[in-house]
Amino acid sequence: MRAWETSGTGTLTRAERPVPSPGPGEVLVAVSVCGVCRTDLHVRDGDLAQHRTPVVPGHEVVGTVASVGEGVARFAEGDRVGVAWLRHTCGECAWCRRGQENLCPRSRYTGWDEDGGYAEYTLVPAAFAYEVPEDLPDEQAAPLLCAGIIGYRALRRANLPPGGRLGIYGFGASAHITAQVAMAQGAEVHVLTRDAAARELALALGAASAGAAYDAPPVLLDSAIVFAPVGDLVAPALEALDRGGTLAVAGIHLSDVPTLDYQRHLFRERTLTSVTSNTRADGEELLRLAPRLGVTATVTPYPFDKADVALDDLVADRVHGAAVLRIGDLSP
Ligand SMILES: [Zn+2]
Ligand SMILES: [Zn+2]
Repeated sequence: MRAWETSGTGTLTRAERPVPSPGPGEVLVAVSVCGVCRTDLHVRDGDLAQHRTPVVPGHEVVGTVASVGEGVARFAEGDRVGVAWLRHTCGECAWCRRGQENLCPRSRYTGWDEDGGYAEYTLVPAAFAYEVPEDLPDEQAAPLLCAGIIGYRALRRANLPPGGRLGIYGFGASAHITAQVAMAQGAEVHVLTRDAAARELALALGAASAGAAYDAPPVLLDSAIVFAPVGDLVAPALEALDRGGTLAVAGIHLSDVPTLDYQRHLFRERTLTSVTSNTRADGEELLRLAPRLGVTATVTPYPFDKADVALDDLVADRVHGAAVLRIGDLSP
């Protein structure tokens, strides 16, 4: 099969690989679409330590089940499934036991610990695959599987009160989906981003305001989410919070956070928190909610052969909304 792989040294290269066969509990997926996520860049560039070398990146995979391994009852050949970042948790540790499997120290990830979806076929443990609702086309479902789910968890971690004012710093794939979910649930959204085209998209989607990355929003915020991997944004985002507000940092990787000033940035019970992966429940909830809330990802498609270009475009802010790779036959 055709695939792309990386060894964490800054390049993505084409490879021919054998089609893998599913082991016990696994499902073989014929990939139709794979979303392109900023984390793929962190894997390519070695910002994240290499867990498997070389590895096929990609963890926003939509496709159909080509075959199932021994003991798989949940899926059958031909089912539409999604494969996301989280692909294994131990089920036994303190975090797994209390419903926070996203914090499991023995968790494993698609496109980092195991080969992902920049390929014609990929494997996934059946227990960690998602059913894709019929009303979600492949290219709409793919960006939900990481960008959407992480943003959805970030929104919940940001403790936005009903009808509250939400600040969004950075406006790429994850942010533009999260903004739609928040607005459909009654939030007033203020977007702050360096990219003028992204500010236009934010306003077109219904944001109350859109300013430059380091601008102060026009109102104090109840909650904020930093999506850009930029630690310098933490202080201005905290300063924009009203009393008792919460800032959630959504990225898996963030450049250094400069020194904070306790009075300006944290006092009056402002909270700074991070977001780590997601639980399967987060993902199932978002896949159900997104079509109901009318969430529509703005998608920039790339042919499979242009995966390297897609990643370069992501670095250079040339991607509008979410980039996806078209790999196999699309479901209508
Ligand atoms: Zn665990
Ligand atoms: Zn991702």
